[in-house]
Amino acid sequence: MILRTLAAATIGLLLLFSTVSALAQPPGPNEMPSVVQVPEAARATANFDAVAATNAYLAQIPPEKTARSDAYFEGGYWLILWEFLYGAVVALLLLNLRWSAKMRNLAERLSRFKPLQTFVYWVQYLILVTVLTFPLTVYEDYLREHKYGLATQTFGPWMWDQIKGLGVGLVLGGLLAMLLFGVVRRLQRTWWIWGAVVAFVFTIFVVLIAPVYIVPIFNKVTRLNDPKVVAPILRLARQNGIPAKDVYQIDASRQTTRMSANVSGFANTMRITLNDNLLRRGSPEEIQAVMGHEMGHYVLNHVYKFLMFQLIVTVIAFAYLRWSLDWTLKRWGEKWEIRGVGDTAVLPLVFLAASVFFFVITPIANTAIRVQEYEADMYGLNTARQPDGFAQSAIHLGEYRKMNPGPVEEWIFFDHPSGRNRIYAAMRWKAENLQLFTAPSGPATTPVAMQSADAGKQ
Ligand SMILES: [Zn+2]
Repeated sequence: MILRTLAAATIGLLLLFSTVSALAQPPGPNEMPSVVQVPEAARATANFDAVAATNAYLAQIPPEKTARSDAYFEGGYWLILWEFLYGAVVALLLLNLRWSAKMRNLAERLSRFKPLQTFVYWVQYLILVTVLTFPLTVYEDYLREHKYGLATQTFGPWMWDQIKGLGVGLVLGGLLAMLLFGVVRRLQRTWWIWGAVVAFVFTIFVVLIAPVYIVPIFNKVTRLNDPKVVAPILRLARQNGIPAKDVYQIDASRQTTRMSANVSGFANTMRITLNDNLLRRGSPEEIQAVMGHEMGHYVLNHVYKFLMFQLIVTVIAFAYLRWSLDWTLKRWGEKWEIRGVGDTAVLPLVFLAASVFFFVITPIANTAIRVQEYEADMYGLNTARQPDGFAQSAIHLGEYRKMNPGPVEEWIFFDHPSGRNRIYAAMRWKAENLQLFTAPSGPATTPVAMQSADAGKQ
């Protein structure tokens, strides 16, 4: 939620935080069942069937839980639209009432130094927009999260997080705004190319510093040190060539009941983090399955690959910005008292145009992320060999994600494979590696051949 506030503040940050989101889930009043027993149809027997096993897992979810998480997730579809429309109305108000021009005039009165004018404008702009969109923020991030049993904060601490988020947005967004307007003013014809480059480099900078300097503003991050949990994770990490010291935990329960883990950072700051909800509620098999998934992100260089995707999107976004700003300013620039693209008063228009762009590419961005998530799922199954732990985690994730969407719905709205598809992938993997699970009379939850070094390592 906090990260979302940030994203609203700068274009460069818009896609950034979706990069690092990963497997997740919650407890509290809406808890999904913790599957400690593998359902009968999912046990490793000679007539194991992946579809029957998948259905057996899904059948463990009570219908009222499914209805609740469907309602929560489908409500999110509408929120994409409402956020877009609400933001557009706010931007048009700032332009048509000439509040944007007035904020620029004030900034110019306070300083003759251009970058400082940009910063002063940014401070006014961000605070005003934060206030105007506050009702929607409260509904979306506070009331609605509580309604569905996903939030753990009372209003005071929540509000304090919002204020801290605003502070981060003022500093980082202000820095980016000064850089970008500097580029636009100096390079009248080619600003859109160099602006994209600056925005991209800035994104890398934020990804680099986020785990060390931004995340700790909101949460406590510590090295994971429970030997029961750490030993299998470190073994898994070493098997995959990941620096073993890079496993952290975060006190996400401060804000949410969702279980999650992620890979964040860039170069030296790249790390795998588990949240405390996962550590508290997940079975050992489930935690290993999730870690296998996160290691997949790490080993498959997903952070770097996604940055490449962002570079392409950023260049296209800036080309579109150049065209749309020119087109709009020609018609209404005078009315809005905006002197041109190098005038800070253009900012509400920039955010309006950018929000149209990102609204339209939502399915493409979701698909780019979802494809990586599926890759990480496959990697995780191969390395952790915990298909049942993985199915458990998919059910836990179902506390805030629809389990069984239609294919088009999944393509448009899902940035992770749906729960049903994830469980099916795990059960298919189990079916095709059944020899790992058919010990003479061993428990079906633990692969008997965990130690053998060949399968899945090619
Ligand atoms: Zn992931």
